[in-house]
Amino acid sequence: MTNHKAKLIQTKEIAHRTKFFRFQFPEQFNFKPGNFITAKVAENTFRAYSIASSPNKLPELDLTIKLIENGIGSTYFDQLKTGDEVEFFGPFGHFILKKNNLKKIFIATGVGIAPMRCFWQDIQNKSAMHLFFGCRYEKELMLEKEIQKNTNITTEICISRPENPDFKGTKGRVTDLIKAKEADFFKNSEIYICGSTPMIDEVVKILTQDKNMPKEHIYFERFN
Ligand SMILES: Cc1cc2nc3c(=O)[nH]c(=O)nc-3n(C[C@H](O)[C@H](O)[C@H](O)COP(=O)(O)OP(=O)(O)OC[C@H]3O[C@@H](n4cnc5c(N)ncnc54)[C@H](O)[C@@H]3O)c2cc1C
Repeated sequence: MTNHKAKLIQTKEIAHRTKFFRFQFPEQFNFKPGNFITAKVAENTFRAYSIASSPNKLPELDLTIKLIENGIGSTYFDQLKTGDEVEFFGPFGHFILKKNNLKKIFIATGVGIAPMRCFWQDIQNKSAMHLFFGCRYEKELMLEKEIQKNTNITTEICISRPENPDFKGTKGRVTDLIKAKEADFFKNSEIYICGSTPMIDEVVKILTQDKNMPKEHIYFERFN
């Protein structure tokens, strides 16, 4: 397995307890949109992260990481400073963006938005894209400005437990948004889902049982 030493060149907090990390990778490194890499975060301890930028941005590569209280990988990444080197392995994975003319529908919760960012950066033509994005709290929302700037993406965002009593957005879960759509909306499309296992299982069930989506057009990446 090849290892790659990459230098951290930028960090930024992009949501509550969620950080963006930009690395400078060695020139020979390459990957496919949707791949993940693993980082050595302690002795014999590795964590997987989806690549959150397109291969066309290399040698720069972005990760978005949710910092979990006392998590080994979270603590390791949180203490990094620009200029530090991280040891990565990969790329890995089968959650790869297909190059065809089908409409792309992305469904993500929380930091599951990471591979979707890689996808929308990679799609250079005017392909139709639709993003369903759900977070628990308003403060967990991320990348809204970048999404709004991309005129090829239509978006539906929901918050399941808004904290602001004057919250004006859509309250609910991504599964509610998908249930509410007509089956026709999903015709001639491919669906890419990323987030937790219970969310993915529920979404796949709705799509295949209620929306007549063929299983072969549904791809997913489980984070936990
Ligand atoms: C293919 C793949 C891609 C991934 N990509 C990303 C990514 O792009 N960004 C990202 O942030 N993570 C991603 N993950 C998750 C990541 O690999 C780690 O599992 C996660 O960050 C927790 O690692 P940790 O070492 O900080 O916590 P750990 O030390 O492993 O866990 C600490 C404690 O937190 C609990 N815990 C673990 N995950 C969560 C969670 N999500 N919410 C609440 N509690 C939790 C554990 O059960 C444990 O009790 C990905 C996982 C996979 C399999």
